[in-house]
Amino acid sequence: MQLIYCPQCGLLLPAGARACPRCGRPAPVQPPPQPRYQPPRTAPAPGPRYHTPPRAARPTLGGYLGALLLFSIPGVGLIVLLAWACGGTDRPDRQKLAQAFLLWLAILSAVVLALAIAFAAQPLLPLFAPLLHRLRPLALARLLL
Ligand SMILES: [Zn+2]
Repeated sequence: MQLIYCPQCGLLLPAGARACPRCGRPAPVQPPPQPRYQPPRTAPAPGPRYHTPPRAARPTLGGYLGALLLFSIPGVGLIVLLAWACGGTDRPDRQKLAQAFLLWLAILSAVVLALAIAFAAQPLLPLFAPLLHRLRPLALARLLL
């Protein structure tokens, strides 16, 4: 049984009293008593136990196609790519995709740059020829010794 005090004078009200015997104030409404019997907890409440992301947040083919299209837009694409790769998105699949795309972009850029330098440096090669000619015997000697 719950003890109820008068909200006005603080008197402990007798059980079941409708009003305070001292000041006459109506007793506060008692909450309905909780049933003693609790149903046995055999199984957890039905429903998904794990948080399933909403449909839109799942990686889809269309989503990847859209993302790749977005990446290929000059300027904007690179900004989105960097933002997503650095964790600017709440979707890990987008972050991984951006990181992979960025990595390929870096590799391809390095290859293209190396080829461009090689082609651009071709006319300069004769200038280095005497130097290379002088270094070659040294290298050979070092290999043999
Ligand atoms: Zn009272």
